[in-house]
Amino acid sequence: MSRTLLSLVVPFYNEEDAIPAFFAEVVPALEAIDKVDELDFEIVCVNDGSKDRTLALLVEAADADARVRVIDLSRNFGKEAALSAGLTESRGDIVVPFDADLQDPPEVIAQLVSKWREGFDVVLAKRSDRSSDTYLKRQSAVSFYRLHNKLADVKIPENVGDFRLMTREVVDTLNALPESRRFMKGLFAWVGFRTAEVTYVRNSRVAGETKFSGWKLWNFALEGITSFSTVPLRMWTYFGLLVAVTAFLYAAYLVIRTLVRGIDVPGYASIFVSLLFFSGVQMIGIGVIGEYIGRIYHESKRRPLYVIRRRYGK
Ligand code: UDP
Ligand code: MG
Repeated sequence: MSRTLLSLVVPFYNEEDAIPAFFAEVVPALEAIDKVDELDFEIVCVNDGSKDRTLALLVEAADADARVRVIDLSRNFGKEAALSAGLTESRGDIVVPFDADLQDPPEVIAQLVSKWREGFDVVLAKRSDRSSDTYLKRQSAVSFYRLHNKLADVKIPENVGDFRLMTREVVDTLNALPESRRFMKGLFAWVGFRTAEVTYVRNSRVAGETKFSGWKLWNFALEGITSFSTVPLRMWTYFGLLVAVTAFLYAAYLVIRTLVRGIDVPGYASIFVSLLFFSGVQMIGIGVIGEYIGRIYHESKRRPLYVIRRRYGK
């Protein structure tokens, strides 16, 4: 029987400070798994258009170690695209997406592998607490999952990031999905398969700083919800219906009141306020529709998810 190949897929964006620690910790951790579990590994590094010395350092690592490969993208395509590139380029029988900043301890990979040995197709690494995140990030994450899972049919497991183990079948299924706007957390959940979980504690970054500001996370959350739910569109039908029924009742009341009491002085303020209110509501409605039309527009262009400038390593 041939030995299992594990692919560690790692997106790098301006991570020059984290790279030395990354290889120093990850390679021994994977070698330790090899001793126990008898598997080979490759580290698929995707350079997502870094502007610092990331590429040079990665190529250096690939030259020194045949198990390291580098996929250099032509510019910064964003983490989701970089991850998709790595998944497509990976050759392993089992594949683990991993962050460059060592927030996820490499030792957990051994636990993922032994769970996979029990016969699961997907093993999720679940954060037992988020104490390494700021209070604001924790709270917004909780609200996001709550809202997303209420609106979307495909539920995303809470406190689970991209860090997980997937078999070749799962990765091939993901790679075959046609959409070009990729919300990976949602796609991971969408493919399904037999899933298990292990829990772990997430660390702080070893070096450098987070690439996701509050504004980027907000847009990421909108992306997630509009990728997996059309409830925000349908909502307007019910809202419109409610307004129409209220307007009809109010009209009937006005007619009866006029018949009984005659015409009195009309209210200028109430007309003005309701005018403003409903123009605002209409604009929000148009904005939501625009969001979805934008998505249709992006998908219809059928552009590739990323462009590879060059590959390094075997
Ligand atoms: N990353 C990337 N492209 C980007 C932004 C981030 O490849 O445009 C990589 C980054 O180098 C890291 C991973 O995605 O390996 C996670 O990023 P980060 O640690 O900044 O996110 P956080 O852990 O704060 O959510
Ligand atoms: Mg991080």
